[in-house]
Amino acid sequence: MLRVPSEGFRKPSSSFQRPRLLKLKEMFNSKFGSTPKFYVRAPGRVNIIGEHIDYCGYSVLPMAVEQDMLIAVEPVKTHTLQLANTNPLYPDFSTSANNICIDKTKPLWHNYFLCGFKGIQEHFGLSKLTGMNCLVDGNIPPGSGLSSSSALVCCAGLVTLTVLGMSLSKVELAEICAKSERYIGTEGGGMDQSISFLAEEGTAKLIEFSPLRATDVKLPSGAVFVIANSCVEMNKAATSHFNIRVMECRLAAKVLAKHKGLQWDKVLRLEEVQTQLGISLEEMLLVTEDALHAEPYSREEICRCLGISLEELCTQILSPNTQDELTFKLYQRAKHVYSEAARVLQFKQVCEEAPDNAVQLLGELMNQSHRSCRDMYECSCPELDQLVDICRNLISSLIRCFALENIN
Ligand code: ADP
Ligand code: MG
Repeated sequence: MLRVPSEGFRKPSSSFQRPRLLKLKEMFNSKFGSTPKFYVRAPGRVNIIGEHIDYCGYSVLPMAVEQDMLIAVEPVKTHTLQLANTNPLYPDFSTSANNICIDKTKPLWHNYFLCGFKGIQEHFGLSKLTGMNCLVDGNIPPGSGLSSSSALVCCAGLVTLTVLGMSLSKVELAEICAKSERYIGTEGGGMDQSISFLAEEGTAKLIEFSPLRATDVKLPSGAVFVIANSCVEMNKAATSHFNIRVMECRLAAKVLAKHKGLQWDKVLRLEEVQTQLGISLEEMLLVTEDALHAEPYSREEICRCLGISLEELCTQILSPNTQDELTFKLYQRAKHVYSEAARVLQFKQVCEEAPDNAVQLLGELMNQSHRSCRDMYECSCPELDQLVDICRNLISSLIRCFALENIN
């Protein structure tokens, strides 16, 4: 993280969207032979700290980015949903609005739209929906951790709500879209959809769950966040990596709960174990040391720990795309989650207290977060680790240069 004069950076403004809107309108016209009736946008996000802990029930600290999903819409009377995309990589799609099928085995782009569409349809218990023509224009790098998928799901949810002429609060919309993105097969938490709806300009947000709420977190003035792309893509729905982590956390929660004599079969998230024990995150880290071992757990060992059969493990606990996994790392995942949840709270506290060395303190928490993601959660990759090293070395050199200049 850098501290630079804030006037050196352009703030997002609505006027820079105008040429994009005009281009979208033109493309819509050549595609559907008509004019869009309205436009909807939903932003992507960067998570500053709180990696992979939302689905464990813990608070996270993201902010929206300028890159977004923009959809031009025209409601039609035919009950047909026609989707097109400004990016030729994403082919046209058409379906009956009354018969939405989302194929979990093929996470094609239109399925993300259908998640948002179906989520709203189900929320209002509607069986017949009006059709619409939609042209999607997204500029969030896909599969790069800026949540292009959720921006698309949220945008589609908002489009559907608008076409229906209904209204919902932003929190309700976020909750519906978080639930409906799971139709694609990923067992995500609610961070991405929440920040897409609840973000505000000029502030990061602490997103808390059960009940969902967002609180402003004012970042130190002049601090600049550089978002760099390692250019390694990860399609969360097309692989099982994401869901394996979710299941490892679920299994760790159950084994910890059983170890502490709680009713483990009802427990799904690591946060529930902490809440039921009524202890601090630091104490939870000690419980983790005591109850779990670092060697990966085989399926048989987990079954023995919980006193269940292999069939019960596969059908009642694991998701469809993790049932064939043979081993699970429970200790490392729980260690990451409880320590990362504590770092989020420390990050917020530093922002509130705003000491002189706030930027250094926040930077150190972000470094710890990356180390934990790399070593404990194994959700990084060599290219990203290298990018982090390059950035950190660059910043160290810059600091040395400034220090020398000041001496001279
Ligand atoms: P992330 O959410 O981190 O960007 P995901 O793997 O969850 O990554 O989602 C990426 C998927 O979202 C893409 O494979 C594509 O199906 C969809 N997507 C992203 N951007 C667009 C876009 N501009 N238009 C249509 N679909 C998109
Ligand atoms: Mg995603």
